[in-house]
Amino acid sequence: MSKRNITGVKTGDTNAKKTKHWSLGLLESMKDSNSVVKSTDKLVVIRDKYPKAKIHYLVLPQDDITNIYKLNKAHINLLEEFGNIYKQLQEEETYSLKAGFHAVPSMFRLHMHIISKDMISPCLKTKIHWNSFTTAFFLPYEDVLKEIKLNGSVKKVSHEQHKALMATELQCNQCSYKPKNMPQLKEHLLSHS
Ligand code: AMP
Ligand code: ZN
Repeated sequence: MSKRNITGVKTGDTNAKKTKHWSLGLLESMKDSNSVVKSTDKLVVIRDKYPKAKIHYLVLPQDDITNIYKLNKAHINLLEEFGNIYKQLQEEETYSLKAGFHAVPSMFRLHMHIISKDMISPCLKTKIHWNSFTTAFFLPYEDVLKEIKLNGSVKKVSHEQHKALMATELQCNQCSYKPKNMPQLKEHLLSHS
């Protein structure tokens, strides 16, 4: 039987032996011209396959960097290029975008989310999806760059912090409304659009 992981990808597929592990899916999408939006010699921008808002891109390095915890001061230029592409995409879009990294990513290769604030999408289903973009689990791009410049690495969140962030009470990201559940939140988000 198959079930879905945090990102919405099917796991435990009966064909798993024939296909690559779901956590490597971004590497496949980087090679897929239908997914790729932009690329440079340093990075690739792809469309998120399970977008959690009207606009949802992922920015990945061409170099094989596993995740944010492998970043150091030598990657400052790369991160600045991530920032340039974020700025460029924001200039091209009418939606307000934010950029950042999940503190505990589930997919391989370093990836930065660029996502619109509406959070209106059929793929946004669970409290974990919501809290992964609206709590401190989402590490803003600007903060990560500052931390790398200052300390040369990103501080890991503990297992307890991770659990607490995922369990955070639902709260609208655009006003003080506290919905009781995800259907209420999704209905409410439409009132901001
Ligand atoms: P995370 O590792 O939690 O930072 O998020 C991984 C992101 O990758 C999620 O937003 C997923 O919707 C997205 N995703 C999962 N599989 C694919 C894929 N094969 N191609 C593009 N995006 C994907
Ligand atoms: Zn609201």
